[in-house]
Amino acid sequence: MGNAARKPIIVGNWKLQKTIAQALELVTELKNALTQVRDVEVGVAPVFTAIASVAKRLEGTPIAVAGQDCYWEDAGAFTGEVSAPMLKDAGASHVIIGHSERRHLFGELDAAVNLKLKAALRTGLVPIVCVGETEKERDAGETMGRVGAQLDGALAGIEADAAGKIVIAYEPVWAIGTGRTATNAQAQEVHAFIRGRLRERVGAVAETMRIQYGGSVKPDNVAGLMAEPDIDGALVGGASLTADSFIKIVRFKRT
Ligand code: PEP
Repeated sequence: MGNAARKPIIVGNWKLQKTIAQALELVTELKNALTQVRDVEVGVAPVFTAIASVAKRLEGTPIAVAGQDCYWEDAGAFTGEVSAPMLKDAGASHVIIGHSERRHLFGELDAAVNLKLKAALRTGLVPIVCVGETEKERDAGETMGRVGAQLDGALAGIEADAAGKIVIAYEPVWAIGTGRTATNAQAQEVHAFIRGRLRERVGAVAETMRIQYGGSVKPDNVAGLMAEPDIDGALVGGASLTADSFIKIVRFKRT
């Protein structure tokens, strides 16, 4: 796995799932099982309406709460949006930005990802910036071009000292929710490319930045992925919705 300077980070992205009661039931199980986990940074990303209740239930535990998105303005006439300071106010410490579902279903562009990233950083939230190619782009040999362009767009104007706080999530779109995971080697190849691009953009701080893999991560494939030198964690969708599988993922056996 990565490098001792990079603490692995595993976050469950619940998407549009779980009422407040269901969310509390799940985090109560996680809380009981994961209280002693210190060697992995663990987080859950509930729907906005459950963030405050979940954060309260997780108070005093090492489990962090993340938003699934945020708007780039702090407040104002922006009906339906939720800002980074409001996420923080509700108890979140992390925020997912530019998830492929935001990009593909809601037309989010790299310029918006960049503004949201800046809002998260100025609020003191840990941003998890998602990048990844579609199946068509991979088949056309455009994986690195696409991922490189997403990184450049997201990180425009971000200085090295701020970059150190950012987590990148490499999530090949063809592997999200499909049961098709990238092979360890496919994922490592793109993670190494991402770290190289980060090095070009922000220099040595790139060695301290965590790069998560996301796309059908399960208890039985997490250890192999995590053994790769540039894979520093996982962003987990489907398998984060039940306590048993998420706990197994967080407790992956180091190889
Ligand atoms: C995700 O949506 O971030 C994700 C990785 O989903 P899944 O694990 O279900 O593929």
